[in-house]
Amino acid sequence: MNVELDHPYYDARKAPETLRVLKAAPHYSDEEKKSVKARIRELLTQQNAVLVAHYYTEADLQELAEETGGYVSDSLDMARFGHDHPATTLVVAGVRFMGETAKILTPEKRVLMPTLEAECSLDLGCPAGPFSEFCDEHPDRVVVVYANTSSAVKARADYVVTSSIAVKLIQHLHRQGKKILWAPDKHLGHYIQQVTGADMLLWNASCVVHDEFKFRGLGKLIQEHPDAAVLVHPESPEEVIELADAVGSTTQLIEAAHQLPNKTLIVATDKGIFYKMQQGIPNKTLIPAPTGGAGGTCRMCAHCPWMAMNGLHNLLEVLETGKNEIHVEEAIRIKALKSTQRMLDFANSLKIPAVGQTDSLD
Ligand code: SF4
Repeated sequence: MNVELDHPYYDARKAPETLRVLKAAPHYSDEEKKSVKARIRELLTQQNAVLVAHYYTEADLQELAEETGGYVSDSLDMARFGHDHPATTLVVAGVRFMGETAKILTPEKRVLMPTLEAECSLDLGCPAGPFSEFCDEHPDRVVVVYANTSSAVKARADYVVTSSIAVKLIQHLHRQGKKILWAPDKHLGHYIQQVTGADMLLWNASCVVHDEFKFRGLGKLIQEHPDAAVLVHPESPEEVIELADAVGSTTQLIEAAHQLPNKTLIVATDKGIFYKMQQGIPNKTLIPAPTGGAGGTCRMCAHCPWMAMNGLHNLLEVLETGKNEIHVEEAIRIKALKSTQRMLDFANSLKIPAVGQTDSLD
């Protein structure tokens, strides 16, 4: 295993501050919230639109998606749901690559997002130009990229992967004697390499939220709650993963929270997931895993600053104005579809089910 780049392309200190993002959004009274939600419902119906929200978005949005016949899930499943749903407009509450993935799979539909400023440090940390040059320097390697990438990066890849097939696909390629170039998340790449033993060259990027979970703080929390089980997302650092009772994607962690007998669960992933996780296990106690705690940034609150940019206010605005439509250049879309389709075909060959049961990591 080898992390090729000394310095990541994205400096985590430049990430927006989650608390500031949340403070800047309008704060509605219960009455106002009710009326905004009613108006959004009306507009969704009028425009034959459906709302798909990621697990890490605000609880209000997840609730509204569920109440209006939309969907709450991980990124791939969001795109698959949107693809199969009869609505002609998809409103994607999440970060930019999620809207792009929806467009790659469903070009005939209008795809809107509450904000186009919602990025992802993995996506930002893997710009298409340098990444393409990196691939050119290693023509002997199969290029496998994680879903948290731009359309242009997906277009340069041989495969897009999600966690439900990442280990199996890398194993499959490894058995064929293939060497892998993996991007963008180094922690996830390292985790897959450990499990499969494959020859993997890793791009150097990480998630600003998961990168901040701290081994020492988590160890202390485990001592304070000896009966608790620890659930960790594999975008977290290796030493944090080593303390886990369950490692997995957003969907897998929700599943593990159900299945583990422990009444207390320490959770190392974005706190947005607590809404959906707690729904199925109302009697269990969820404790967020400790983070670096450096100032008022997402490092302190375990909540993605870009996910936090999605709110009822900009969801309403986008439905009223039709702005923030996602477009993907057709030549790029066709290439990105190819690597994405390879993943779907591989998943089908393994008989991994579609909507509702997939596990993209984010
Ligand atoms: S939580 Fe991390 S991986 Fe997910 S969108 Fe935010 S920055 Fe990207």
